[in-house]
Amino acid sequence: MNKSGITVFCDFDGTISRRDIGYNIFKHFSHGKNDELLPDWKSGRLSSRECLLKEAEMSPVTAEELFPFLDQFKLDDGFPAFEKKCSENNIDLIILSDGFDLYINYMLKKNNLDRLSLITNHGWIENGFINIEFPHKNKTCTKCGSCKGERIREYRNANRETTRIVFVGDGYSDACATDEADILFAKKDLEKYCQINDIEYWPYDTFYDVIRQLEKMKILSES
Ligand SMILES: [Mg+2]
Ligand SMILES: [Zn+2]
Repeated sequence: MNKSGITVFCDFDGTISRRDIGYNIFKHFSHGKNDELLPDWKSGRLSSRECLLKEAEMSPVTAEELFPFLDQFKLDDGFPAFEKKCSENNIDLIILSDGFDLYINYMLKKNNLDRLSLITNHGWIENGFINIEFPHKNKTCTKCGSCKGERIREYRNANRETTRIVFVGDGYSDACATDEADILFAKKDLEKYCQINDIEYWPYDTFYDVIRQLEKMKILSES
């Protein structure tokens, strides 16, 4: 039961984690070959599904190699405090990612945050490669792997008590979510996207900035 009527959706890569872990996995294990795909993905010629599958094909990796590689990555220092504040204020917090669960679950568990809800694609290692499946079907969006805009609409339809949506993101894979957010926090490529498309947003660097802004707006209580 969502008593506050507010639900926060957060992107994972580059938002909850400081760096884009999905991208760095493929960059490292494809020896930089995945960068050849970026221009086509950014321009929309390559969908996120096609891009993820191609990146995985280029990147041989075993579990013994992947998990130690992940240990270099850190979460935003302010995220645990943000998560605690949301919980104290009866605000639901859901992670929405167009990466995949294999590395996100590992990072959440390592940081004692694996109680959080996560909506993303499914990845697993088999025969020396990462396999990826897309359990969340998109009705209209052809660009995203798991479209964040469609996931938020599904959530709204199933949870009528939710009156306001907060979204926090940093990249092009968050573009579809901007239509659904009542309060939007953006940095990096998502900030550029908002400026070009004349979308209202709050700039931020870390989750401490998000906390401060939501306190000012009386959405989070001040401590
Ligand atoms: Mg991101
Ligand atoms: Zn989409």
